Amino acid sequence: MSGSNARSNAIVAITSYKPESQFLNYASKKPTETYGSSVFSDKVMKERLPRNVYRSLHKTIEKGMRLDASLADIVASCMKDWAIENGATHFTHVFYPLSGQSAEKHDSFLAPDGNGGVITEFSGKMLSQGESDASSFPSGGLRSTFEARGYTAWDVTSPAYLMKNSGGIVLCVPTAFVSWTGVALDRKTPLLRSNQALSRQAVRVLKLFGIETTLPVLSNAGLEQEFFLIDRNFVFGRPDLLIAGRTLMGARPAKGQEFEDQYFGVMPRRVQACMSEVEAELHRLGVPVRTRHNEVAPSQYEIAPVFESGNLAVDHNQLIMTVLRNIAKSHGLTCLLHEKPFSGINGSGKHLNYSIGNAEVGNLFDPGETPHKNAMFLVFLVCAIRALHKYGGILRASAASASNDHRLGANEAPPAIMSMFLGDQLTDILEQFRSGRARTSGSKRVMNVGVDILPPLAADPGDRNRTSPFAFTGNRFEFRALGSSMSASASQVALNTMMADSLDYAATRLEMLCGGNMEKLNDAVAVLVREVMEKHSAVIFNGDGYSAEWHHEAELRGLPNYRTTPESLMVYCAPETIDLYGRYNVLSRQELKARQEIYTEQYCKTIHTEASLVIRMARTIVYPAGLRWQKELAQTACSMQSLGRPADTVLLDEVADLLEKLRLNVEHLENELVNVDTDIVRKAHHCGTSVLLAMKHVRECADRLESLVPEDLWPLPSYQEMLFIK
Ligand code: ADP
Ligand code: MG
Repeated sequence: MSGSNARSNAIVAITSYKPESQFLNYASKKPTETYGSSVFSDKVMKERLPRNVYRSLHKTIEKGMRLDASLADIVASCMKDWAIENGATHFTHVFYPLSGQSAEKHDSFLAPDGNGGVITEFSGKMLSQGESDASSFPSGGLRSTFEARGYTAWDVTSPAYLMKNSGGIVLCVPTAFVSWTGVALDRKTPLLRSNQALSRQAVRVLKLFGIETTLPVLSNAGLEQEFFLIDRNFVFGRPDLLIAGRTLMGARPAKGQEFEDQYFGVMPRRVQACMSEVEAELHRLGVPVRTRHNEVAPSQYEIAPVFESGNLAVDHNQLIMTVLRNIAKSHGLTCLLHEKPFSGINGSGKHLNYSIGNAEVGNLFDPGETPHKNAMFLVFLVCAIRALHKYGGILRASAASASNDHRLGANEAPPAIMSMFLGDQLTDILEQFRSGRARTSGSKRVMNVGVDILPPLAADPGDRNRTSPFAFTGNRFEFRALGSSMSASASQVALNTMMADSLDYAATRLEMLCGGNMEKLNDAVAVLVREVMEKHSAVIFNGDGYSAEWHHEAELRGLPNYRTTPESLMVYCAPETIDLYGRYNVLSRQELKARQEIYTEQYCKTIHTEASLVIRMARTIVYPAGLRWQKELAQTACSMQSLGRPADTVLLDEVADLLEKLRLNVEHLENELVNVDTDIVRKAHHCGTSVLLAMKHVRECADRLESLVPEDLWPLPSYQEMLFIK
């Protein structure tokens, strides 16, 4: 018998399932009242802070200005009272190190009073700045261990909140994480810097159109999150899922996703209960989740919030991932955020819906209906075209990870070639600018090459090209290459900085073309649009991004195709990247180099861990199972022979051959692991080629064995069970 009873445990768990949490009765507990109840929100601050302090802090948050340090004590004391009234015992600075996870260290509010008792304490300094021994976080040589201190600094634009779990309530303060010399050790700092750069350049363009704004112009992001939910028992029976978050072996089930009967189907009861609780918890934390549905693959789902300012959206996405993981457990489920938990069926992504604007100027990617808005829209649009054409590699690199490599270009997610989908209507209009032809387009008439040309664009155009990594969807771009487990920060940083550069270029060019005479602005816009199209239209592609023809065509167009993570991470240290990020003070050469090193190192570690798991599982689980079956087959053959009957050994031969091959392939994989370079880039290349290939060869034998060995001898939960028992 197999040593694992994950299968029977899962079946019992499902058949006897009763939601652990109480039915969420929204009739008695109005979501409108509980929404944001755990957030130290603008509303709470207004109610609790002295008026002048509130006004000053509000201004800081809204306008992105530096916080008046003298106010910190008052804010901290008020925040502490609010937190303690709500049951908090500890506080923590939450930060986002380069590992991609959220990190935190809890401190109690309690401090000894010197007389054997305690008082509660939380000063302005404790709120606005923390110091932690950060030597265990990846720093890529940015912080040597003898100066192991890292500082966390309060990000006032992302509100503090109360995180609850069975062990108590913790006040969480979102922070940036920098070294003692001010070098960014995290994912938030560059995002804040890139927002500043974007705002500065966007404001210049707006000014040309006579638009002033008192607010910073920021990126907005709506992050759709895909994930799998499977019974937890299976995870305990699979070391690969437990440690690597994905299956490293497993024969294909008889049924995969080919019926397409899962997408938007009815959610299983347990999943729905889990999702409702996830939503309730996120709403309490002020995360505006709105949509939930089944995804394409069996047991795959999606949750999406309403878009928010980019920085907040990234923090909230981290919270979404944490809450999903935690609450799934209490429903007997495991949330798999890995990009490719199961081979042969779709993996999970994280779509980043990106736009630029603020409350005063609206969404600058919205075409609008007046000629004036049209012209401004065209400028922002061609800036995006130029940005993607010039710096697509940087955006690609922002979605690079060992796990995401399994998705990109595998006919389920866009390829690694960065191109832009605009749809026929917009492409046609832009082409007209290029050729200078006057023509009618849609319902509006085209007056020479003026700007009064945009017909109303459907906000949600019917043809949604899902094969494009960067698609215009009516009033925003959707970046579809990002992986489900990744922080969305680096992609935002890339987009903001690329756009800042193009807006800078556009503003300068328009200023020059107009020469101070704003009446010439329309003509200048036409020239700008034509010039950008002449130089950068190669990045526009409306066809099938999955097709082989596109790969060929893209090469002819000179678009880079960084297929693997190590290849694409090289972009971090390319002169163009150093120049771009340096010019806008987003990341220094040193900070970029550290990122390249850390991400490459992470890539190697991931593959190394997976390979070690493959070896271990093959030797201790798969091989013994095969051996038992071989023995049974051999004994049967002997018995038949002793009875004087013909012994059919076809199956026995195949099993014996497979076992031999498995053993050799494992040995080979082991050798590949020993044989590694010390140079990190060469090591990554080796991992991405030879090691992955050797893992694949082991898997092939294991999967074939799985389809031969009787179920009662096979200890690993199968794909069929994991994906369909729910
Ligand atoms: P779909 O799956 O059809 O692409 P969803 O409704 O799942 O669409 O997700 C769309 C996401 O785009 C949501 O998070 C939504 O709030 C966001 N979004 C909508 N308008 C904008 C905008 N102007 N800027 C950024 N994100 C936006
Ligand atoms: Mg969606």
